[in-house]
Amino acid sequence: MIRRQSALEFERLRPLKRTLHALGDSHVFRLLDNEGSSPTLPPVPLDLRQYEAVLLDLDGTVYHEDHALPGAVELIRRLQERKRKYACLTNSTMDPARIAARLLQMGVEVDPDHIYPAASAAADYVMEHCSDPQRGMPRVFNLATEGIRDLLEGKVHWVESGTEPCDAVISGVPLNVFATNERQRLAMLLLRQGAALVAICADRIYPSPRGLEFGVGAMAAMLAYAADVEPIYCGKPEKLFFQELCHRLKVDPTKCVLIGDNPESDISGGRGVGMRTILTLSGITTPKDIDQLPPEHRPDAVITDLRDLALVPV
Ligand SMILES: [Mg+2]
Repeated sequence: MIRRQSALEFERLRPLKRTLHALGDSHVFRLLDNEGSSPTLPPVPLDLRQYEAVLLDLDGTVYHEDHALPGAVELIRRLQERKRKYACLTNSTMDPARIAARLLQMGVEVDPDHIYPAASAAADYVMEHCSDPQRGMPRVFNLATEGIRDLLEGKVHWVESGTEPCDAVISGVPLNVFATNERQRLAMLLLRQGAALVAICADRIYPSPRGLEFGVGAMAAMLAYAADVEPIYCGKPEKLFFQELCHRLKVDPTKCVLIGDNPESDISGGRGVGMRTILTLSGITTPKDIDQLPPEHRPDAVITDLRDLALVPV
């Protein structure tokens, strides 16, 4: 039986009653009509076994800051017990090992192989597109993070001055020891000399304990403007990100279900490559946002949080 909603949760969900959702006491979901807000489709049982891979967004879906969100640990454990193909996705500039350590502190043990951050997508992009058999290893300037350093150590030649040839500048957020003012200036010079601008993701901002900070996309826009180049964005919702992930998982995107809290980066991104999508209201989306979603941001189903999947077969 699916978790009964508390009175408080019911009030929070009241505006959704027309368009959603986990219905009554069984794990039956009403799929959203992608053309409009009214449910024209009959309720259907949600069964994650029909998908070859389950993709879980992290921030706002599995965790918030330093704690796991309701139902997340249980769902990941069920996927692991059933030896299902799954992956945790994030636009983080950290490498998978650091994210796995963070998850472990929250009580979730996930092998780094099951974590795909945008930093990995950027590293994959550089290895695939900036290598030249005649020149050898890609020549890379790291304006991003220690995560990028660890992912590419031994696989690239690190550029450290403006006089060296450089194939790619990987950019992250301004607030990082790899992105001091002097290194930002050096990156600008390398880009003006022909290096590709590989931005980990296009996020304009990100939340921190002190409030909002400039995101990867903001720094990439600054560099792109100064150097008059077009950035290559590697994170969600780029097709590049989802295609690279599916390549790693050896699964067709149309055989995947993606669960996330962001209609733009998760739902639209997943839909763009043919995935089925479930929007969770445990992150940035509120019930009243649902009716305002443009067609390309509309998920196949909506849940309150991952507890709604507690009895759904996985
Ligand atoms: Mg999220």
